[in-house]
Parts: sequence; structure tokens; C-alpha cells
Amino acid sequence: MTDWIALDKAHCWHPFTRQAEWTSEESKPLMLVRGEGVWLEDAKGQRYIDGNASIWTNIHGHAHPVINAAISEQLSRVAHTSFLGYSHPLAAELSERLVRFFPETTLQRVFFSDDGSTALECALKMAIQYRLQSGEEGRTEFVAFANGYHGDTMGAASLGGVNAFFERFRKFGFPVRFVSSLAELQELEGLDSVAGVVIEPLVQGVNQIHVWPEGMLRDLRAFTEAQGIHLILDEVMTGFGRTGTMFACQRENVVPDFLCLAKGLTGGYLPMAATLVREEIYEAFLGDASKAFYYGHSYTANPLGCAAALANLDIFESESTLEKLPAKVDYLAGRLQRLAEESPYVSEVRQCGVVVGIELRDAEGKAFAPARRVGEQVCVAARRYGLLTRPILDTLVFLPPLSITEEEIDLALVAIAQGISAVLGQESPDLSN
Ligand SMILES: *Cc1c(COP(=O)(O)O)cnc(C)c1O
Repeated sequence: MTDWIALDKAHCWHPFTRQAEWTSEESKPLMLVRGEGVWLEDAKGQRYIDGNASIWTNIHGHAHPVINAAISEQLSRVAHTSFLGYSHPLAAELSERLVRFFPETTLQRVFFSDDGSTALECALKMAIQYRLQSGEEGRTEFVAFANGYHGDTMGAASLGGVNAFFERFRKFGFPVRFVSSLAELQELEGLDSVAGVVIEPLVQGVNQIHVWPEGMLRDLRAFTEAQGIHLILDEVMTGFGRTGTMFACQRENVVPDFLCLAKGLTGGYLPMAATLVREEIYEAFLGDASKAFYYGHSYTANPLGCAAALANLDIFESESTLEKLPAKVDYLAGRLQRLAEESPYVSEVRQCGVVVGIELRDAEGKAFAPARRVGEQVCVAARRYGLLTRPILDTLVFLPPLSITEEEIDLALVAIAQGISAVLGQESPDLSN
């Protein structure tokens, strides 16, 4: 059998990875070869619950027959055609299906790209070009939120507030001011030079699952509107049901000026993104050639991606995914509360829909020394009990596909409890009823 691990260690360069450690003798990376529902299987035949939905992408489970069939059907026709100079039926249908979620006078125009970062890049470039074409050349800055995350391309990353990721590139990025709350934004001087405010609505993912106060998004919308500042929502993680509604902004009846979607757009099957834009912004791009939006990628509106995305939306209807969510979210909340009560090392649980952060601290409530990498060790240990997930520092992230069942939630949380015990040396908490 081919030694895939050796080939990987010799030639692959992994994202956000300490390669020296990854390629060391002791490291035994999992080779994932198959998936079904919320389960993933490795090359040795071990099965695991996909506890972070394959890096926050998967919605209805792996190998879903409806999505598989939709991709196969399109594949039998053609895999890719250019969206530059041509169109195709599925892109037309998908754009209509997406805008249908929003009032007719608002987000009605869809620009396709490839991933979360490019969905943000598009919104940022559009926001700046819009100002240049509307006699507002002075609005050249962005405001973003501290510790936010918007992707890794140079432009999107410059709006990110996680210093470890971007500090060394800061001087190459956009002009951005960071605030940590709406109140701080309201006190900023010179708001008339701001083109747009970017935020992850309801919950910041990479910031250890930081949940915003209720009503904050609604108030932010009112404030930005009054100031003539565009509201750019990054729903790359929160989109497609994660927070309980199709889009997080719907929870507070907010319609942004730009809406960025990616990860769950195709149900987690193929890389594809969409930037939804208000019609009046789009209209500023009409006219002679100098007004066009000169931007695009080779795989823009890839037909296989569109097929998967349409099937993803179909499943929301055929399986009543959103209707079933509240009961699951409540069940999950109950089980998490039990975990927090039973484990002395769970200091806080933060939850928004099926987006969960479980923060670990020592029994006195103090943070562990970062060098101990407790969160990471717990996640590695949890694999032995059948769960795959990743921490952010010492916050364990649990962000399963929406299709997870109550039984599977139980299995996952038991694996987390066992992982914690294995690393921190405490008897495994009893999570039975
Ligand atoms: C993952 C993520 C991105 C970046 O998406 P990519 O597809 O990885 O480029 C942007 N914003 C948020 C909120 C994300 O979670």
C-alpha cells in the first residue's frame, strides 16, 4: 500500500500548521478516506464524528445522496465553463434562489467567487469602487472588529483582528480601524472617511466563539445606515442555518449592504462563494466601461458548485432542516450545561445555534499556560473516543453538521468529556441522565 503519510510529509504544506512538528517522526496524521452523514472514516477503518463539520463547511452530512446526484448529473453534462462572457442555467437559478431570502428592494445581485476570503475581497473592492463612482472619494477606510476573522488573502486578512495571523503583514493591508464594540465605533472620530464596517454577525468564530450581545447587530445596522456607512456582513461561517436561521442577520431582522457567503453554500461539498449586493450599489457600476467591476476568478460560478449549492437549498426544504433545528439546539444546550456542571475544567460554554465553544481552564478557574496546549491535546485525545474537532487555544470548538442527531450529540460530548479526563487526569464525568 502506498505510504501516503510519507508522501504527505515529504511534499504537502498544510494550512496554519507547524510543519516541523507535522513532519516529525512521532506525528501520525489521519488520512481521511470516506464520509457518510456526520461520520468520517480514516484509512485504517476508524470512524469519527465530524465535530467541526470539516472546518465549518458541511451542512447536511457527507455523501448526501441528493447533493451527490446533483453534482453527478451536472458532471455528465459539463464540469466547468467560463462565466466571463457566458452564462449557464444553474448560476442563473442559484442567484435567484439566494436573493429570494431578502426583500425585493435590497440584496438582489449576486457576484460569485471561490471561498470566504474572495467573497470578502469582492465586497471590499466593490465598496471602495462604489464610493469612487458616487462622488464620495473621501470614504476610503474600513472599520472592523477586534479579534475578527475574514479570511487569509491579503485584503481580507487586513480586516482580521487576530494579530498572530496578520501582524507582520499589517503595513501591506487596507486602511482599517479596529473597535471592540458598537459603543467604541460610535465614539470614533472621522466616520465620514469610512466606506464600510465589516462584522461576523451574532458570533465571531475564530475569536474562540465570541457571541455578540443580543440586539447589537440591529443597532449596528441602524447606526451605519444613519452614518451613510455600508454594512458588510461576513456570514461565511454563520450562513446556512448554523445560528438557527438560514442567515444570522435574519435573527435580528437586518439586511446588510453586502452579504458574504461561502463555507456552507455548497453544503460543504465544493469551494464556492457568493457576495450579495444591494441593487442601488450595483447600479453605480452601470454605464461606460470605466464603471465596470474588473474582478473575477477562473472558476467563477463553477457549474458543479452551483449544482451542489442548489441541492443544498433543496435539502433545507425537503428535510425541513431549519424547522428541526430549535429542538436540536435546545437538546445540545442541555447536554452542554451538564458537561459544564460535571467537569471542573469546563469554565464556560458559549453557544449560538449549533456553534459551540467549550472553554477549558484549570480547577481554580485560571487559564492554562499556553505552552501546555491543553485544548489541542484534548482534541487529539478525543479522537480515541470517536470525535474529530479542533480547538482555538483552549476553547474546544463543536460545530457539527446540522444533520447531527441527538444520539450523535451524546456520543460527541462523551468523547469530549473523555478527552478532557485523559489529558487532565480526572475521572470521566458522568453524562448519563
Ligand atoms: C472561514 C472564514 C472565512 C474565510 O473563508 P475561506 O473559505 O477559508 O477563505 C472568512 N470569514 C469567516 C467568518 C470564516 O469563518
